[in-house]
Amino acid sequence: MTTPEHYDELVKIRHYIHENPELSGQEFKTTEFLKNYLENLDIQILKTGLKTGLVAQIGSGNPVIALRADIDALPIFENTGLEFASKNAGVMHACGHDLHQTSLLGAAKILKSRESELKGTIKLIFQHAEEGHFGANDVLETGILADVLAIIGYHNMPTLPVGQIGIREKGIMAAVDQFYVTVKGTGSHAAYPHEGADSIVATSAIITGLQQLVARNIDPQHAVVVSVTHVEAGNTWNVLPDDAIFEGTIRTFDKSDRELAKKRFYEVVENVAKAYGVSVKIKWILGPNVTYNDPELSDFIYTETAKWHEDVVIPEPSNAGEDFATYQEKIPGVFAFIGSNSPGSPGLHFSDMTVKDETIPVAVDYYVNNALALLERLGK
Ligand SMILES: [Zn+2]
Ligand SMILES: [Zn+2]
Repeated sequence: MTTPEHYDELVKIRHYIHENPELSGQEFKTTEFLKNYLENLDIQILKTGLKTGLVAQIGSGNPVIALRADIDALPIFENTGLEFASKNAGVMHACGHDLHQTSLLGAAKILKSRESELKGTIKLIFQHAEEGHFGANDVLETGILADVLAIIGYHNMPTLPVGQIGIREKGIMAAVDQFYVTVKGTGSHAAYPHEGADSIVATSAIITGLQQLVARNIDPQHAVVVSVTHVEAGNTWNVLPDDAIFEGTIRTFDKSDRELAKKRFYEVVENVAKAYGVSVKIKWILGPNVTYNDPELSDFIYTETAKWHEDVVIPEPSNAGEDFATYQEKIPGVFAFIGSNSPGSPGLHFSDMTVKDETIPVAVDYYVNNALALLERLGK
């Protein structure tokens, strides 16, 4: 539990971090700040070779578990009007990672003060580049988590009431695929379309065709989203352009849905293009996998959390993605949601998104109590 003094300290820290956001892979000052705070508490920082982000350690011996918080911000102009709004114009902690890292610092202080009671080792991951989707992979590649038996993380949810903790087994956040398609036609005078191959009409047909993928190929009981988010073609009213482009994303919760959606995407895009006499080039970018909560571990964490916290629920999964999933491919893990504002509030990634400081102590307790319970269980 955080004392009132500790709470005040953490609120100041969160406001400071919120004022000084840094983008994925550029979290140099943030890392320096975290490092200083932890070193002042005499907490060991492990040698990883990471350029930004860090891994610290409390306790010793087996079992080894990990707590993870992400530390990066987004390229968004902040529009919250907060006293501690971003001083780094065009960069904003619009995903609340300022809250995540502050609560892990809070947990670090409490766990360090109780180090002699710890029955094992806790590794604290302050992870860079979650938004860039490469941070978790970087941390894993250092090999520093090779001995970790279980990993715990959370994401704040401004659309859930402050302090509500949501834990569900299996998929809690979606797998993310990204596509970028170039449609190559042949331009012509707008009045003589028969002399070219119209990339705009072809692109429209392709995009419409893609919408049948969820409606007619995916099991209606499964959640899948196909969104085309950006289309570009032409630059004036009386010329049909050569090329068009479109890009977007697919979200899935199931490995076979993910494979099927990709397969059908290629078939629809390539064959509709053929029918319209244009050619296509598809660029496919694999994002994080499903954030998959180990069923047994989720059940344990849910039960433990409900012992000290009244407001624990099984939340709806989110169609957003999260690179915590990358750890879960190697290590059984639980990723929770913690409510950080109220229903109807602006959601994650909005320029007016705000999280409430009152979330901090709940998140600190989530880390501390579950870390202690997990060490106890795994040590048996
Ligand atoms: Zn985000
Ligand atoms: Zn986030």
